[in-house]
Amino acid sequence: MSTILDGKKISEMRLEILKEGIEDSGLYPRLATVIVGSDPASQMYVRMKHRACERVGIGSVGIELPADTTTQGVLDSVNRLNRDSDIDGILVQLPLPKGIDAERVIAEVSPEKDVDGFHPENLGLLFSGRPNFTPCTPTGIMTILAEYKIPVAGARAVVVGRSIDVGRPMSALLTNADATVTVCHSKTKNLAEELRRADILVSAIGRAHFITPDMVKPGAVVIDVGINQLNGRLTGDVDFDAVKDIASAITPVPGGVGPMTIATLMENTFRAAKVKSCDNVW
Ligand code: NAP
Repeated sequence: MSTILDGKKISEMRLEILKEGIEDSGLYPRLATVIVGSDPASQMYVRMKHRACERVGIGSVGIELPADTTTQGVLDSVNRLNRDSDIDGILVQLPLPKGIDAERVIAEVSPEKDVDGFHPENLGLLFSGRPNFTPCTPTGIMTILAEYKIPVAGARAVVVGRSIDVGRPMSALLTNADATVTVCHSKTKNLAEELRRADILVSAIGRAHFITPDMVKPGAVVIDVGINQLNGRLTGDVDFDAVKDIASAITPVPGGVGPMTIATLMENTFRAAKVKSCDNVW
């Protein structure tokens, strides 16, 4: 029987510690979210982030722009937040509606307020092994591995998916932690064979029950990033019931990686506020 890597429990614990840290610091960190359009999933994610802010003592401001906002309109909003000294962190909810140049918008966020870790400067620092703000989902996964004392240095890690928000930064974080990393994607040949080599397998594909027992090495640690709907239920990329008896440890969906993403966003926002307060002292 494998260990269930309980991201919900860890996130609750870390949010409590964060709340105390914020109280003790005397700071009042503030996060601004920018949402364009009315995509229900994006609206739900933003609401969850605001609720988490309230819980830990981070102030939050929500900027809501209509779906027909131009790229320049979004850039103007981001710039106002960049200049607002009361705002420590800026999160632009992705995906942005078609027609908006998301790359320009992300690059406009001040790197010091880039609590999502997607700015090219922060990604460059991550990939050069000198991380500053790092993307919340893969960072949350590193926290799960650390909290459960899963050895990463020297482990063979395989990441499926090479998106800029999950797969690529995940591979960089694992590399920085001394894992030997393989990144797989839709053009990978003999995928099952690659996956069977993994001591740590991270799946970020977005296909329900794609990872089956024949793809998992006995004793592997399996991290499921996927969020998919199957028969009206939320499910990951991994066929959890079939894989859990082969893996030594596995994240469930829901209750695994998802809660850690939000907890990490809160931690990044507090960190931005602390860095700013130190800069002000100097
Ligand atoms: P994405 O941008 O669509 O990337 C998916 C990746 O999977 C791509 O690199 C793609 O390869 C690869 N892929 C697709 N089909 C494949 C196949 N049959 N075999 C091998 N690789 C395949 O998605 P994403 O933003 O990374 O998100 C991935 C999943 O994680 C989604 O379900 C998303 O909802 C979820 N997610 C969860 C959280 C969380 O907090 N829990 C956060 C972010 C995302 P190519 O590059 O070759 O196309």
